[in-house]
Amino acid sequence: MGQSSLVGLIVQKFGGSSVADAEGMKRVAQRIVTTKKAGHSVVVVVSAMGDTTDELINLANQVSPMPNGRELDMLLTAGERISMALLAMAISNLGHEARSFTGSQAGIITDSSHGKARVIDVSPGRIQEALDQGAIAIVAGFQGVSQDTKDITTLGRGGSDTTAVALAAALEADVCEIYTDVDGVFSADPRIVQHARQLTSITYEEMLEMAASGAKVLHLRCVEYARRFDVPIHVRSSFSNKEGTWVVSERPEGDEMEQAIIAGVAHDRSEAKITIVGVPDRPGVAAAIFQALADAQINLDMIVQNVSAAATGLTDISFTLPKDEGQIAIGSLKRIQGEVGFASLQYDDQIGKLSLVGAGMRSHPGISATLFAALSGAGVNIEMISTSEIRISIVCRESDLDRAVQSAHSAFDLDADNPEAVIYGGSGR
Ligand code: ADP
Ligand code: ASP
Ligand code: MG
Repeated sequence: MGQSSLVGLIVQKFGGSSVADAEGMKRVAQRIVTTKKAGHSVVVVVSAMGDTTDELINLANQVSPMPNGRELDMLLTAGERISMALLAMAISNLGHEARSFTGSQAGIITDSSHGKARVIDVSPGRIQEALDQGAIAIVAGFQGVSQDTKDITTLGRGGSDTTAVALAAALEADVCEIYTDVDGVFSADPRIVQHARQLTSITYEEMLEMAASGAKVLHLRCVEYARRFDVPIHVRSSFSNKEGTWVVSERPEGDEMEQAIIAGVAHDRSEAKITIVGVPDRPGVAAAIFQALADAQINLDMIVQNVSAAATGLTDISFTLPKDEGQIAIGSLKRIQGEVGFASLQYDDQIGKLSLVGAGMRSHPGISATLFAALSGAGVNIEMISTSEIRISIVCRESDLDRAVQSAHSAFDLDADNPEAVIYGGSGR
């Protein structure tokens, strides 16, 4: 693993809070140069400065309520281009050669799904060439170019992590370092749980479930990619020199978390719930509903169907989905209302989701009972439940979510003895 001091190829990704202003750029440049001076080849992936992406989205919404996907991607990728050029200048000011590249120039080839494009190929010829010539390569994160349309695409919010891992895999890097505003992966978001514990290591499998459940410290696709190509990820802070968290296929022997049942508690505020009321209870109805949602490319999460106990022949179906796909989903359901014959639709965006993740759940019964007891003790009402082999998720009121996370964290003895998490920057947006 890349923990040794052998010279090699390192990919370093710096998130928006690490390069929020000129001072941050200079600090990061210093760090990159130190790595280069140690003899490594360095590829850097950089995000847009601070909250630039959110500000650009705001601006787009002011000129159009539903901005066109192609143009929105063109706008948002500008954020990362500003960062890459400034960072290259800051490095050059320290006497080292740095060349910046857009995602397209770096060979990040994607499908054509604007706003959530998938990386389908990486051909980093120009990056390799820069490295061969002794330069530091700086790549704009979160963007690529569509193989079919040749248009510029983005990989979804937080997608710079995926750029970094995709490049690390293609260049066969020794390690992909993800620098952020906390010291590593914690047992819960340290912005919510003051006593969250930093993990020395976590498996790809657990990290996948954490990321899919809203722990935005790593982008979900980046973890999928790292697992597929066996790229070790080292999550750490750009503001400290502490050892961070290793994301690897298996926890090393002797890791204090080796025997742990639960790795952590994740939370998600980005989902909404739609309830389809009074659905005729006969074969084919669910198929028609979910086909309409699939055609609209809605990413469904939890689904619950309850047959009416009152023998009315009707049922209610509820599901959760990303809030920003809510209006499209409602539109496509309304279009099939006549054909399917349901009574009405309810839309609720005041929900929160909590997920408990841990590989040890497989062999330990009673986890749900402990979780539900903790939630009830905290006065949290459970609205939906779903499980996978190594995860239990519940939906509750958004206003109860912080309390729910804190109580679950304590119930599974995850609290550190002293508050150990430092939040160095970022707005938590
Ligand atoms: P960056 O801008 O560096 O990509 P992000 O904001 O995307 O940073 O991710 C880092 C943030 O992820 C942290 O500030 C923290 O609030 C949040 N986070 C959520 N869950 C966790 C967790 N389990 N461990 C660490 N950080 C977490
Ligand atoms: N700048 C993009 C975002 O804010 C991508 C990233 O930071 O990873 O989502
Ligand atoms: Mg991020």
